[in-house]
Amino acid sequence: MSDTPDLSTVRERLAAVRSRIAEVTDRPVRIVAVTKTHGWDVVDLAMRAGVEDVAENYAQELVAKARDLTTHVPGAEPSWHFIGRLQSNKVRSIAGLVRCWESIDRSSVADEVARRAPGARVMVQLDLAGIAGRGGCPPGDAPALVDRCRASGLDVVGLMGVGPPGDPEHSRPAFRQLVALADELGLPERSIGMSGDFLVAAEEGATSVRLGTALFGPRPAR
Ligand SMILES: *Cc1c(COP(=O)(O)O)cnc(C)c1O
Repeated sequence: MSDTPDLSTVRERLAAVRSRIAEVTDRPVRIVAVTKTHGWDVVDLAMRAGVEDVAENYAQELVAKARDLTTHVPGAEPSWHFIGRLQSNKVRSIAGLVRCWESIDRSSVADEVARRAPGARVMVQLDLAGIAGRGGCPPGDAPALVDRCRASGLDVVGLMGVGPPGDPEHSRPAFRQLVALADELGLPERSIGMSGDFLVAAEEGATSVRLGTALFGPRPAR
């Protein structure tokens, strides 16, 4: 079971996250609110708490939620990030909504995003955990994929990665690897860290962290 939190709770959690991050780094770290399986009301809460970047994992859910949000809150326009496994045949449906495509992990998807959203802001997702089917390209394939995105006119701003599950310390070497590769490729953005390991990510050089549970509590079942 899950309950939709209220605005003051989200504000308090956000402030707590920000102060914990500030204890470990002086660099600014953007907070991206992950709203998958929550309704439009949670997107509205995030925005009222001051978060502009909102991330979704499923194309159909994003389309429906964006529509519901503008129905209930006319003019609301979060900066939508897409962080889920991308299927080429779904790209078109969300091309007009997504401001940052964080989960580019293969050339077919890169090509389709370049076709449907020319010049879009993208990140290449690395498979840091080595878990097949979880998304992300093998780190060794990232330079070629970044080149391909650039050649097709996409604005490649950074790398994204999901740390291995379990002890947050297990994420540290993976995040280090991602940051080193981003440095090598001249990519300023590093989207690493989720509710369980955002402090490790902030320590290792995250420019943004993607938080669901830490802000909104347990997710409703899909
Ligand atoms: C669900 C999800 C998150 C947020 O997870 P929490 O642990 O709830 O913070 C972040 N990134 C990706 C890619 C996700 O799928």
